[in-house]
Amino acid sequence: MSTHIVILGAGFGGLELSSRLSSALADDVRVTLIDKNEAFVFGFSKFDLMFGREGLEEMRSYYRDIIKPGVEFRRELVVSIDPGARAVETDRGTYEADILVVALGADYNFSATPGFVESGQEFYSIDGALRLRELLPSFTSGAVIIGVLGEPFKCPPAPSEAAMLLDEWLTSRDVRSAVQISVVLPWDMPIPVSASASQAILDRFAERSITFVPDQVVTGLDPAKKVALLRDGTHLAYDLFLGVPVHRVPAVVEASGLAVDGWIPVDRGNLATRFRDVYAIGDVTSAPVPKAGMFAESAGRAVAEHLIAQIRDGGSPAPFDGAAACYIEFGDHKVGRVDADFLTGPSPTGPFTAPSLETAQEKKAYAATRRQRWFGG
Ligand SMILES: Cc1cc2nc3c(=O)[nH]c(=O)nc-3n(C[C@H](O)[C@H](O)[C@H](O)COP(=O)(O)OP(=O)(O)OC[C@H]3O[C@@H](n4cnc5c(N)ncnc54)[C@H](O)[C@@H]3O)c2cc1C
Repeated sequence: MSTHIVILGAGFGGLELSSRLSSALADDVRVTLIDKNEAFVFGFSKFDLMFGREGLEEMRSYYRDIIKPGVEFRRELVVSIDPGARAVETDRGTYEADILVVALGADYNFSATPGFVESGQEFYSIDGALRLRELLPSFTSGAVIIGVLGEPFKCPPAPSEAAMLLDEWLTSRDVRSAVQISVVLPWDMPIPVSASASQAILDRFAERSITFVPDQVVTGLDPAKKVALLRDGTHLAYDLFLGVPVHRVPAVVEASGLAVDGWIPVDRGNLATRFRDVYAIGDVTSAPVPKAGMFAESAGRAVAEHLIAQIRDGGSPAPFDGAAACYIEFGDHKVGRVDADFLTGPSPTGPFTAPSLETAQEKKAYAATRRQRWFGG
């Protein structure tokens, strides 16, 4: 009888894992891939949405188009997970897995920050990016703060990218000189793993009069006074506040008992949880890597190799390497790249490739190959 593998969540991690299992083990496993949404959208597409560069429909990859032998996609909402029994309940049925993989990503807790729901905007959700697309054209002067509301958060370069892209967008509309842009980050540099990428971002900030506020987090907004409260007790005035919301595991993960101190702990080599035959990958875990799609993808790859070796009863798969290429939008259509490696050496490294049009093409090719690999036959 074939092994039943149930994957919860069809984001970067779940899609990479399901496509690799299909390629290697289609005759030996039955994979059920469950997601509440009907389509996948790359995290970085939210910038295209927010600045009106692309419409939502164009950037959607529909799960109904997945053609993968051995993989069945179900559009269902996961409502409970029993990791001890590897049993899952959805709004449409129940599943019992031989092997269960949790890849449900991170949710946002907008109300965790006082004043944010009333007075802040965000570009971390599709709805937030769509609201900004409507709102930005009428914003022609004043102070913008792009501020982090808590750690950890997805895609550490994203707030800096938002600032550089906003600068470019406002410039194209001839209103840049009437707008001040500040970026509030919890670290002393924009991307802690890469001093050279950080310096390139700081150089661009200096060139474009973007103010960097290091070592701070925005702890609350005062909607009446329009000031953001920082963790050191100081304030910053804003006319438009773009927050990176507080992140948390989805409620169904919280209720399952899988999370410890907020996130699911995993073995750093093979992403196993403390429950037998239950794995977790991507943003939902506390694996010692940033929350980013490319790390979720490499975790999906590591679990696939581990399961392939286990089911075929052979080989010793390489452990999760915590390595991924991270693309950074600098504006002027240029993209830089950090080749981050968090686990293979004694300390994390992040060599940087300077922004260029070629790397922008490479990022497009990255997305195209993933669409093909995850959805195509
Ligand atoms: C503005 C922005 C820019 C970004 N840029 C980059 C970038 O350039 N590079 C990069 O690597 N990363 C980037 N990211 C981060 C990246 O999008 C995430 O880190 C990545 O999506 C995480 O992958 P994952 O598989 O862990 O989770 P996700 O991709 O979030 O997938 C989780 C899936 O679980 C589903 N789900 C959740 N709860 C339930 C439930 N109860 N029932 C059923 N389904 C459920 C969701 O619908 C979702 O499809 C960016 C993010 C943002 C917001």
